[in-house]
Amino acid sequence: MTDKKSIRADYLTIFKKAYTLMDEAVIDGNCGESCDYHCCRRFDDDGKRLGMYLLPLEYEYMQAKVATNYELHTHKLYNLPPKIKKSYYIYCHLESGCLRDYRPIQCRTYPFEPHLENGALSLVIEKEQIHDCPLITHRSEWRQAFIDGVYNGWLELIKIPIIQYHIKYYSKERVAMDNLMIHDPSDGFMALQR
Ligand code: SF4
Ligand code: SF4
Repeated sequence: MTDKKSIRADYLTIFKKAYTLMDEAVIDGNCGESCDYHCCRRFDDDGKRLGMYLLPLEYEYMQAKVATNYELHTHKLYNLPPKIKKSYYIYCHLESGCLRDYRPIQCRTYPFEPHLENGALSLVIEKEQIHDCPLITHRSEWRQAFIDGVYNGWLELIKIPIIQYHIKYYSKERVAMDNLMIHDPSDGFMALQR
């Protein structure tokens, strides 16, 4: 296999593994029933259409065949990290509803975000939330399988250099903006950094 082909095969394996690892429900049962699927809303409170950003290369490796409704945001017009020249912003709400098996990483990791600081990966929750997720105040109910799956999924994904760059960029920004929710282990939050 040529180098390019072997990198493509490696990245595909990483994405597939991450999708599988990150396929755990946050809590027992369907959390969407408690909030009327707030993070799956089609519009925000001001009527603005809502979608979500894919990770770098996620469209190319996992979404190209299923995501039909998207915008391509370019570095020139949107505030993207300097090395990210374009980013896919997808609208998942097709008539058929959730793309369950193909839901993007953003749906699988939420309410966590990956955070890379001093070479260590951790899972964090941001203070600034556009979703009014009731689970954030009920963290003791989160399944360990969800936490482990999300963490291990991100451990896979950071093997892809452009994704690692992307996470580092937003981690720095989060720290600079003081946008990190403090984790208090006595609040029933499991260890998130290993
Ligand atoms: S907002 Fe929270 S509780 Fe509601 S569907 Fe999303 S993750 Fe589940
Ligand atoms: S893909 Fe599914 S889980 Fe993700 S926002 Fe759309 S409806 Fe919600």
